[in-house]
Amino acid sequence: MTKRIPIPIVAEQSSSREGRLRPPPSGIVFSAGQVNDRLNRPLRDLRLSVIDQCNLRCRYCMPREVFNRDYEFLPREALLSFDAMEHLVRASIPLGVRKLRITGGEPLLRKGLTELIARLSRLQTLENAPLEIALTTNGVLLKSLARPLAEAGLHRVTVSLDALSPQTFQAMADAPDIDPRSILEGIEAAEAAGLAVKVNMVVQRGVNEHEILPMARHFRHRSATLRFIEFMDVGSTNHWSSSQVVSSATIIGMIANHHPLRRVGRSDAHEVSERWAYADGAGQIGLISSISEPFCRGCSRARISAEGGFYTCLFADQGTDLRPLVDAVALGAPLLSAEGLQRSAASLAALWQGRTDRYSELRWQQSIAEHRIGEKTNAPGLSSGRVEMSYIGG
Ligand code: SAM
Ligand code: SF4
Ligand code: SF4
Repeated sequence: MTKRIPIPIVAEQSSSREGRLRPPPSGIVFSAGQVNDRLNRPLRDLRLSVIDQCNLRCRYCMPREVFNRDYEFLPREALLSFDAMEHLVRASIPLGVRKLRITGGEPLLRKGLTELIARLSRLQTLENAPLEIALTTNGVLLKSLARPLAEAGLHRVTVSLDALSPQTFQAMADAPDIDPRSILEGIEAAEAAGLAVKVNMVVQRGVNEHEILPMARHFRHRSATLRFIEFMDVGSTNHWSSSQVVSSATIIGMIANHHPLRRVGRSDAHEVSERWAYADGAGQIGLISSISEPFCRGCSRARISAEGGFYTCLFADQGTDLRPLVDAVALGAPLLSAEGLQRSAASLAALWQGRTDRYSELRWQQSIAEHRIGEKTNAPGLSSGRVEMSYIGG
């Protein structure tokens, strides 16, 4: 039987990564306000993984040699309950969280997801604005779920689609029975339901770079914004090599040769993608350049895995198990009570304040220093036993 990749959660780890994470005593008052990490970065975005399973097997994310029928996914009872999820999301808002992204694995496989979204869509940020709720999905189940999700209060959806040609799509997703046209129908259904739509395309050299132009052309003059993502060295099962990375600069060049582009930039320092606009007014595209242009300096994202691990970096090799916190809080006060939320908010703030992560920047600096762009390098101080993206949430 394929062994499950060890779950890299450190139970009862402290914010300082030395002692134990204990919930603060009952009665503690956490005063709401922006909380910064040790590199002075605020916490703005929370990514919540609702399941570690998926109905595709993208070769760059969940290769079938590892994620096969013998692989031990989280048992149902290990997944955070909706009460625990709502508790953790609500507890993060007083720290400054403004955006929530529901992800996975494939989040549309989580039973009752619309109920969870309905609960979370009622929440307000510190600035009394609605908490912005987005979802990242492979789109396979989107056609039928788009409307119920929008009615439940979802604001936006990001659909992953790496190719238009069935042959390339099916090879990349390792899904011979799925026609990419069904994903396009899911995108149309989402737009018809009033959701703002982005499309993510991971580009891998020698695999789907020939799809860059057809994808760009397909989404020109459409409301969905296409974003190109550099293939990342996340996890440890996808055999990443930097020779498979097509840089954002190359992608821009390939498109601009046919459809001139002008740089728009980022709307704020925390935006992941850099936007470019077609000179002829056909809309915009985005570039996510984690490899060639790391953006750790503006990184304001925390992640919670489907079983309650708190991760302050996508490339983390360990997280902090929040379940003991949630259980301890629940013993003293109802999870959604003001007192219960205060206690978890204080603990989450302590974790964020201890954060120093900047993996991509370190990797980039190291590769420059060694004149080794074009080879795999691990950033100093981090092991290669990194947590998988399907587990931590993309
Ligand atoms: N299953 C959903 C989906 O595919 O949209 C949500 C989870 S998936 C892990 C989130 C995003 O991560 C997807 O857009 C996917 O393409 C991206 N992703 C996964 N592995 C990646 C890698 N090695 N490099 C770059 N992006 C990756
Ligand atoms: Fe599944 Fe998304 Fe990973 Fe593809 S990228 S295997 S759809 S979790
Ligand atoms: Fe943020 Fe870590 Fe990615 Fe840097 S490497 S942008 S700190 S998630």
